[in-house]
Amino acid sequence: MKIICIGRNYTEHIAELQNERPTEPVVFLKPDSAVLLKQHPFVIPEFSNDVHHEIELIVKISKVGKYVDTKFAHKYYDEISVGIDFTARDLQDKLKEKGLPWEKAKAFDGSAVIGDFLHKNTFNSLENVKFDLTKNGETVQSGNTDNMLWKIDELISYVSQFFTLKIGDIIFTGTPSGVAKVNSEDVLEGFLEGNKLFRIQIK
Ligand code: MG
Repeated sequence: MKIICIGRNYTEHIAELQNERPTEPVVFLKPDSAVLLKQHPFVIPEFSNDVHHEIELIVKISKVGKYVDTKFAHKYYDEISVGIDFTARDLQDKLKEKGLPWEKAKAFDGSAVIGDFLHKNTFNSLENVKFDLTKNGETVQSGNTDNMLWKIDELISYVSQFFTLKIGDIIFTGTPSGVAKVNSEDVLEGFLEGNKLFRIQIK
């Protein structure tokens, strides 16, 4: 299984990191070893002093696909959830400065939190789904799929030009604004339309 991640998919997050607004989706991958095991804490890695939370709506691929047309993309997933794209921001800034790949800052062990999945039919419209991250009980990030620059089906179509989608692959669709550093002892909880789908202790 692979994890395909989209960067810079929400205008306000692009602004907070002073990034350029992309003309095509920004794409990177995480390996399966990046998945934070269920019930495990997230341990801040030694190579970073500035690991940020990025809550994202995530999609689980349910059918093999290549060159998927946007209008058929809905046939390639049944379930959605929320996850965290943990990012070693200090390391990412150094890599970005040098024009180097981001993997060391984005794809390290435990950097992909995957919440429990809900069937997409739970929601009236996937283009208006609200999701939130709380830190120690306070809401720190709120997003709505309505604000995505590229919608889920467009992302599936786009990434399938480059990577064959396989059953069980996960797509992280980008984070809204409000990314910030995590500290030891923080507790992060992720919600999709009020349903709590993960709880992570930081160590
Ligand atoms: Mg992200």
